[in-house]
Amino acid sequence: MRLSQFFLPTEKEDRSDAVVASHRLMLRAGMIRQLTSGVYSYLPLGLRAVRKVAQIVREEMDRAGALEVFLPALQPADLWKESGRWDHFGPELVRLKDRNQRDFCLGPTHEEVVTDLVRKEVRSYRQLPLILYQIQTKFRDERRPRFGVMRSREFTMKDAYSFDATEEGAELSYMKMYEAYARIFQRTGLRFRAVEAETGAIGGSFSHEFMVLAESGEDVVVSCTDCTYAANVERAEIGHPKGKNTPPPSSTGPMKKVLTPEMRTVEEVCNFLGVEPSRLIKTLIYVADGRPIAVLVRGDREANEAKIRRVMGCAELMMAEQELVEKITGAPMGFAGPVGLKGRDLIILADREVMEMVDAVTGANEGDHHLVHVDPRRDFSVDRIEDLRVAVAGDPCPRCEHGTLQIWRGIEVGHIFKLGTKYSEAMGATFQDEKGQERPMIMGCYGIGIERTVAAAIEQNHDEDGIIFPMAIAPFQTIVLCLQKERTDVREASERVYGELLSSGIEVLLDDRDERPGIKFKDADLIGIPLRVNVGAKSLSQGKVELRHRDTGQTELIEIGSISQRVKEIVRDKTERDPGSCS
Ligand code: ATP
Ligand code: MG
Repeated sequence: MRLSQFFLPTEKEDRSDAVVASHRLMLRAGMIRQLTSGVYSYLPLGLRAVRKVAQIVREEMDRAGALEVFLPALQPADLWKESGRWDHFGPELVRLKDRNQRDFCLGPTHEEVVTDLVRKEVRSYRQLPLILYQIQTKFRDERRPRFGVMRSREFTMKDAYSFDATEEGAELSYMKMYEAYARIFQRTGLRFRAVEAETGAIGGSFSHEFMVLAESGEDVVVSCTDCTYAANVERAEIGHPKGKNTPPPSSTGPMKKVLTPEMRTVEEVCNFLGVEPSRLIKTLIYVADGRPIAVLVRGDREANEAKIRRVMGCAELMMAEQELVEKITGAPMGFAGPVGLKGRDLIILADREVMEMVDAVTGANEGDHHLVHVDPRRDFSVDRIEDLRVAVAGDPCPRCEHGTLQIWRGIEVGHIFKLGTKYSEAMGATFQDEKGQERPMIMGCYGIGIERTVAAAIEQNHDEDGIIFPMAIAPFQTIVLCLQKERTDVREASERVYGELLSSGIEVLLDDRDERPGIKFKDADLIGIPLRVNVGAKSLSQGKVELRHRDTGQTELIEIGSISQRVKEIVRDKTERDPGSCS
């Protein structure tokens, strides 16, 4: 491809609304343009990178025995009503009506459509297992589309669905996908980690997320210092404190009510009473599927809503409105506490740590008052004691003896779920087993964000000059710069190198524009092509060209006749051995 004929609108300046590196650089490198909030056009350079990732995904899905299909984005509401998700999915679902006023949606995911397909075609255990996948556009009206293509409203997903006759079969399908994902992200050259994850709105029993480690990631992940435990912080369990098993001493005196005028927040109360936040008991009132609950956590901790949801087995969890809090506690917001709450028609959940506290402070369920010298085991009772808080660095590992949890940030590029029979039961996707008995199929679902993977690769691979594409997903493997276009010898040599690279099967871009060398260098760095061949008068006088590696900045002077051989070697080497890693 000749740059003079290519569509590559690069930009010198960053746009002010682009805060993360991938968004900034994808715009500047002319890969994408925004049409409207969270909706992007892919220009030729961007599309080439996206296609590279899609191709790796396709190869690995095929290798794992999954079969490619292409399912409709336009989906009738009836199917979503059958699964129960028409009402549950919320405003992220893009809903529309056809000319006959029938309800439809644009698929944010395809469990319903694929289950409908399979229930009509598969009758017997002999037709199972089956793994179907597609690479297709998804629509999600995200609350906060941001970070460019990382969180957009229209994006490409590889989604796969497995159907099995037995639990063991379903485990095997899950493992196959897990391994395929590890290969995919290794091949794309990413540093990633598979972590235990929440199952969220899609539901199901078990899941892993594939996280690319990056400061700009929206997800927080914990991992153990000693063992292989790693989880999304939404999921992360907290181990029991190790070592001392002596029961905590009782509080120093009888409970006492004190005046705390207008002191509502943890900070205000602690400052006013001169105590550490770790001595305060926070009382949070939620509504879980319509039922009020109180959740107690230490003042310096955060409640983990995913954990609360799991303990309650509820689909919907919301903070209670002021009115309800006042009705339950009998006090204005900011003065709720667990003492005397029992019996007020709500469920009280306490985080494990709360019941270990001594000499605590908490709201008195009376305006402008708190209680001090509270002893949780003496002064109030709760319905359940559970692990309910967000894990923090240094917490004990839930799986091993000595390890503690570390915290880092990640970008979720892939997600795999064991769904079980949630959809097959709801939608009647059954098969006849060996004994002729009708049974629901056991399902799994597996997603990868194609554009998000490209963006994540850029987050991990860039410098102040621009993108540094891993070879396997680079839009071109090599760029040839004709540095003095006015000179016939340089022009001819550039054409020769370009032609030879093309005929050896290298994906090559020739910068044959009427621009100064400085501009060509800058653009080549910005668009991140892994190898650059500088064809200039000086080295050419010795019959040589300069080969520059975008990642290390190293250069090699190479005989013009050997350049395509050398480039081929490097491309092969780097495609096979890109430094992706899984831990
Ligand atoms: P997130 O928590 O980031 O919203 P999710 O859990 O909703 O992701 P899944 O439903 O598991 O995502 O979708 C599978 C994959 O699709 C994700 O791992 C991610 O790579 C990609 N993806 C999801 N939402 C978006 C989006 N809004 N824009 C781009 N890619 C997305
Ligand atoms: Mg989402």
